[in-house]
Amino acid sequence: MTDPNIPPRKVIPILASQDKGPIEPPEDASAEMIALYEAHKKIYPRSVSGVFSNWRWGMVFLTQLVFYGIPWLEWGQRQAVLFDLGARRFYIFNLVLYPQDFIYLTGILVISALSLFLFTAVAGRLWCGYACPQTVYTEIFLWLERKTEGDRSARMRRDAGPWTADKILRKSGKHFLWLAVALWTGFTFVGYFTPIKELGMEFFQWQMSSWETFWSLFYGFATYGNAGFMREQVCKHMCPYARFQSAMFDKDTLIVTYDEQRGEPRGPRSKKADLSTLNLGACVDCTLCVQVCPTGIDIRDGLQYECIGCGACADVCDTVMDKLGYARGLVKYSTQNAVAQHWTLRQTLLHVMRPRVLVYAGILASVVLAMAVSLATRIPFKVDVVRDRGVLARVVSGGQIENVYRLQVMNATESHQRFRLGVSGLPGLSIASDQEVGVDATQSRWVAVRVQGAYDVAPAGSHPIHFEIAAMDMPGIVSEKSVFIVPR
Ligand code: SF4
Ligand code: SF4
Repeated sequence: MTDPNIPPRKVIPILASQDKGPIEPPEDASAEMIALYEAHKKIYPRSVSGVFSNWRWGMVFLTQLVFYGIPWLEWGQRQAVLFDLGARRFYIFNLVLYPQDFIYLTGILVISALSLFLFTAVAGRLWCGYACPQTVYTEIFLWLERKTEGDRSARMRRDAGPWTADKILRKSGKHFLWLAVALWTGFTFVGYFTPIKELGMEFFQWQMSSWETFWSLFYGFATYGNAGFMREQVCKHMCPYARFQSAMFDKDTLIVTYDEQRGEPRGPRSKKADLSTLNLGACVDCTLCVQVCPTGIDIRDGLQYECIGCGACADVCDTVMDKLGYARGLVKYSTQNAVAQHWTLRQTLLHVMRPRVLVYAGILASVVLAMAVSLATRIPFKVDVVRDRGVLARVVSGGQIENVYRLQVMNATESHQRFRLGVSGLPGLSIASDQEVGVDATQSRWVAVRVQGAYDVAPAGSHPIHFEIAAMDMPGIVSEKSVFIVPR
């Protein structure tokens, strides 16, 4: 109760106290200072095992096997996946892509976005909880932290205690391992843009170029900072996905939920106590679900934007339920409608397959199909035609009108190719220069092409024509537009 004789205390809010240096205490001793920004509390996630933890570790292995392994794969005489920015060639197994193939990159981005929409509509932040690099590297760094400093309680005790030789040794060991993983990650990242074996040789000979050194260190230290120190802060305050995910959620989206009706009223009890004689729900208020949470939230407070859907709380709660002999699933993947209406698993899954999900799946399947067909039927060479502006249309010997063009022929195969050039669009039009051109594997070549037509081939002015370029040693023909100028 408030004592009417004591005047109310003044509250002086402190904005950005961290940035403005020490705050002067108020002159009025009865005033109380409160900070409007909550001080950051370090989170010490407890280790957990269970079904979802196994899935998460499975994804860690899979994603890292792909990320660290792919640059070392060979395809013929070259690296299987290499984005050679200098030569403007992108090698992806048997595909050789030029900047003109940008449409495929657009296709990959569209597929990624649609997949994110679909998975979010079905099961919330599945990407965040299992495959996002932030989650994956945090999981790896946490594992190293546990190996060097012990589990949650040991780490908390050590951090609160004085600096001893043991503490210095353990922390140094941890940072050494973190830096090793981070630098290896940065090195691998650069290995996607420059042949990784050559990069390794350059590293040992201390001859890495400045941009290779910069990006290796930049990506490495970003990994070290984000996975070692920032952790949940990235998910909570930096990642835009957490902000707009709610637009894709509805009450039939699978999320990690706490069954409040079953769990409340929460409270401790003896393991042997008969639940039916207690006025208690299934939650023993052990707070283990909070202790394992990588973002430090309490799932029992309901759906929160900080939740990355990792399922760690569901795993640990199941172990508690097992120990007590209660049914599992007090914390589980379910939907808000399913929990409220006590649906069976079958009913829940049937509602998950709702029109929005089917529309996302349909569009995604169409885009994937279109991209697969486009790649399968892709002609492995390209041609750009440029009218040579240095040489105007002119009349040459024999009374012919001649226009000169520059053709860039790009060979996207891994063998030497010969191409035959043809032209059409006006009667009697012919190529007066070489009609065959050879281009080395994965190279492009500029050739000057002279096109001639009879003096009266067309009235004065500009007339559309087509170049037809046919591969001589493989199927494929490309047609490119240009214009033929007839002078006055
Ligand atoms: S782990 Fe389960 S039993 Fe323990 S506090 Fe969380 S919800 Fe309750
Ligand atoms: S509340 Fe549960 S599912 Fe959500 S982030 Fe925390 S541990 Fe993971």
